[in-house]
Amino acid sequence: MTDLLPLGMLAELTHRCPLACPYCSNPVELDRRSDELDTATWLRIFEEAAELGVLQLHLSGGEPTARSDIVELTRGAAKAGLYTNLITSGVGLTKQRLEALAEAGLDHVQLSWQDTDPVVADKIAGLEGAHRWKHETARAVVELGLPLTINVVIHRLNIARIADMIVAACRTGARRIEVAHTQYYGWGLANRAALLPTQEQVEAAHAAVAQIRRELEPSILIDYVAPDHFSRFPKPCMNGWGRQSLNVTPRGKVLPCHAAESIRGLTFWTVHDHSLREIWHDSPAFNAFRGTDWMKEPCRSCPRKHIDFGGCRCQAFAWTGDAANTDPACELSPYHGALRDAVAGPRTNELIYRRFSQPKPVLQD
Ligand code: SF4
Ligand code: SF4
Repeated sequence: MTDLLPLGMLAELTHRCPLACPYCSNPVELDRRSDELDTATWLRIFEEAAELGVLQLHLSGGEPTARSDIVELTRGAAKAGLYTNLITSGVGLTKQRLEALAEAGLDHVQLSWQDTDPVVADKIAGLEGAHRWKHETARAVVELGLPLTINVVIHRLNIARIADMIVAACRTGARRIEVAHTQYYGWGLANRAALLPTQEQVEAAHAAVAQIRRELEPSILIDYVAPDHFSRFPKPCMNGWGRQSLNVTPRGKVLPCHAAESIRGLTFWTVHDHSLREIWHDSPAFNAFRGTDWMKEPCRSCPRKHIDFGGCRCQAFAWTGDAANTDPACELSPYHGALRDAVAGPRTNELIYRRFSQPKPVLQD
């Protein structure tokens, strides 16, 4: 039994999405519509989450507005007392639907952008016209008076325009922009040779963000997540495993992080068989890497272990075959050299799009 309580919950309402971004954080094995939880089950989960102590609910996907019951789900979450954040591609979202969501109690919108160059934006999204639609959604969100965050995933095809994207986001009236480099597991790992920037590009991006921060903050808050392949130490992934948040998949598995299913050998309890409280406190997956007792060297005796929690378990598994190893993003990991070597590895212009019907990508490493 842990004393910790979750602050946030990511509800992946569906894996359906009109877009096909090759860095999508959804698992390579997508849940199908026929497997999705029904409305009543989600409403029950939202109430259980609020009772457990969750404050913020992120309504996500795929594209959450692909669910015909999204307004009803938002109303139920708000009624349960949760702060609701809609994480959307903006594609398929009309002003009328946004008005209905606002009326149902939606508190915040987080809109993804691909690029300021419309051609590259639509190419990455895998849908012509996506860029234009996203701008219309941004305008509608601001006109409705809902707080807007814009998030952009950075990769080799858009990194040169990182400052332009921040300026453009600021012009929409967004209050915050989240600029995060691609995470290289799942779809991102399958597309690493196409998406990974060069060392020079990353250094130029760091400098551009530092400069634009001096010019624009505090009129807009800029969150910048640096890429692991170019870092000395890992990020505090999820602020610690099973420490602050939980993630519910479309079919009802409850995970400590959205990519946790990529770790073979973990068993995830579902909302069909257990309450959220039982899963949070007692499930083997949530307890597998909680705290620091599970750590091996060099993390075990490292003074940074309460700062970064040994980094990302999914990345450790992807590179070393053992999720209890140090994240190879750390320069103290014996696998750090292999991660760095990937920076100098071969590149391709071929993208593997995230689609249900696609043949499964061949995972590298
Ligand atoms: S990353 Fe792209 S494909 Fe994946 S859910 Fe978001 S919008 Fe859809
Ligand atoms: S050894 Fe482990 S705890 Fe220390 S910096 Fe590296 S990842 Fe973090």
